[in-house]
Amino acid sequence: MTAQEALKHYFGYDSFRPLQEEVIESVLSGKDTLALMPTGGGKSLCFQVPTMVMEKLTLVITPLIALMKDQVEHLKDRRILATAIYSGMSYDKQKVALDNCLFGPYRFLYVSPERLENEDFRQRLQALPIGLIVVDEAHCICEWGYDFRPSYLRIASIRREGVPILALTATATAEVAEDIQTQLAFREPNIIRQSFRRENLQYVVRTCADLNEKIAQMQHIVSRVEGSVIVYVRNRKHAEEWAHILGTHCYHAGLDPVTRARRQEQWMQADASSPLRVIVCTNAFGMGIDKPDVRLVLHVDLPDSIESYFQEAGRAGRDGEKAYAVLLFAPLDITIARRRVAENYPSQEFVEKVYHKLSDYLMVGAGSGLGHTFMVHLFDFISRMHLPSQSTLAALQWLTTAGYIAFEPEQETQARVRIDMPVYELRQCTFSDEQETLLQSLMRRYTGIFTDLQYLHELMTNELHQLLVSLAQRRIITYVPRTVAARVTYVQERQTQVFLPKGLYGRLRERYIGRLKAILDYAQTPEDKQTFLVSYFGEE
Ligand code: ADP
Ligand code: MG
Repeated sequence: MTAQEALKHYFGYDSFRPLQEEVIESVLSGKDTLALMPTGGGKSLCFQVPTMVMEKLTLVITPLIALMKDQVEHLKDRRILATAIYSGMSYDKQKVALDNCLFGPYRFLYVSPERLENEDFRQRLQALPIGLIVVDEAHCICEWGYDFRPSYLRIASIRREGVPILALTATATAEVAEDIQTQLAFREPNIIRQSFRRENLQYVVRTCADLNEKIAQMQHIVSRVEGSVIVYVRNRKHAEEWAHILGTHCYHAGLDPVTRARRQEQWMQADASSPLRVIVCTNAFGMGIDKPDVRLVLHVDLPDSIESYFQEAGRAGRDGEKAYAVLLFAPLDITIARRRVAENYPSQEFVEKVYHKLSDYLMVGAGSGLGHTFMVHLFDFISRMHLPSQSTLAALQWLTTAGYIAFEPEQETQARVRIDMPVYELRQCTFSDEQETLLQSLMRRYTGIFTDLQYLHELMTNELHQLLVSLAQRRIITYVPRTVAARVTYVQERQTQVFLPKGLYGRLRERYIGRLKAILDYAQTPEDKQTFLVSYFGEE
C-alpha cells in the first residue's frame, strides 16, 4: 500500500496537507526527521500513515495523558489497534498492553516519557518489534525550550539500529531544533519545516495603563470582532471574573471534566451573535481543539514565552480568513514577570525546607522512606506548614528533577458542591447563621451551582467541611469532599541535605528569564510584530 492509499483507506482523506507528504516520504526512506509544523497542521498523520504502510509497531512518546487516550480512541474508531501505557496504570494492565504489542498486530504504543525512567520497562521495550519511534511535542526534550521535561533525555537510550526517529513540534527556534536533533542522536541532521508566517493573521499589541484599562480594552475589542473568540488569562479566578463581565463561560482545569467538555462544545456550536461564541480560559484550553474559524485570540495577561504565545495565538484563523491575535500589555506585567521567576526558581534553602517539612508531614524519618509512595493532601500540607503555594509546587518539582522524590501532581481534585433545592424551597428552611452565610456565598460565587457540581475554591477548613456535611445530611446539597491524590514516592531514603543540580538549575533559570525577556521585547518592540515573531523562530 502507498502512503496515498493508506491516507484514503484508513483515514478517509483525499489529499495531504502541505508538508505531510514530505515528512512521510522522509520517514519511509528511513531517515531521522524533525518536522516543525504549526498546531493543527496535521502532525499525527505524519507518523500514522507511514506506520500503516510499514505494517510495524510505532512507539509514540507524548507528554499528555489526555491526548494519548484521545488518539488511541481515535485510532480504535478507525479499526486500528493501538494502546497506551502511562504512569498510574496498574502493573497488570501495563503487562497486558505490552503483551498485545508483542504478540498481536498492534500498530501504536503510546507512552509517557516518564515511563522510560523505569529500567524494567526499558528492558521490555527491547523485545517489541518496533519500526519507528515518534517523539511528539519534541521541544520538551530541550533545556532551551519552554517546557523542558528531564525524562525526555532518556529517549536516545532506547534507540536501536535501523529504527528511524521522527520528532514533531509546533514551535522551535534554531537552537531548540538543533538541540532536539543532538539529544535524539540523529544520524544526520534533517529538518522539514513550514514557514511560521501567517499571512491572514494580524498580530497586535495594545499597551494599557493598568488592569482596569485592560478589562475595558478586552470588552471593547471582543465587541468589535464578529465570530469565535478565545480570551486567554493567567489564572482561574480571573477566568471566572472576566467571563462574568463578558457574560459568557470560563474554562480552566479546576472545573470538572463534564462541565469542561460541555462548555467547549457550546463554544464550538455557538452562533456569531451568541455571547457563548467567546470563551475565557487558562492555558488548560486549546490542546487538541480544532476549530478553523476562530477570529480573535486575545491575551489579557502576558504569556510565559513567545513559544507558548505563538502556539495559543496560532489558534486564530486556521481557515485562512482574516483573524486577529491581540496581546494586552501593561507596565505591571514586568513586575509580575519578575515575581514568576522567583516562584519557579526557589532557592536551594527553600527547596530543602520544603523537603524536610514534607518528610515530617509524612512522618518519614531520616534514613527511611525509600520506595514508599504517599498520597499527599497538597492543600493541607501547604496550609498547615504555612508555605507559599506556587513556590512550594516548584520546589516539589525540583526535588523530583534532583532525584529525591517523584512527585506526581496530576490527580488532584477539589471538593465539589451542588445545591439540590430550588431557591424558593431554600427560603422556607431554617438555617444556622453559618449555614445561611455559606449558602449565600455559594450562590453568589458559583453560577450554575443549582445544576452542576462546582469545584470549590475556598480554603477547605475543618469548619467548612463540617458545615458542608451538615447541609448534605439534610439533603440540601450534594457534597463530594476533596480527594486530593497528589502522589509522592521517595526515590532515595530521606536525606539530611538537599542539593539542586546546580548546572541544570542555573541554565534553566537563565533560559526562563531569557524567554520572559523575549516576550517582553515582543510586547514593546516598535517593529512589525509578525516580522519579530518569525525572526525569533529563525526565519529571515
Ligand atoms: P497537530 O498535531 O499538528 O496539532 P493533528 O494531527 O491533531 O494536528 O491534526 C489536526 C486535524 O487536522 C485533525 O482533526 C486531523 O484529522 C486533520 N487533518 C490532518 N491531516 C489532514 C488531511 N490531510 N486532510 C484532512 N484533514 C486532516
Ligand atoms: Mg499533535
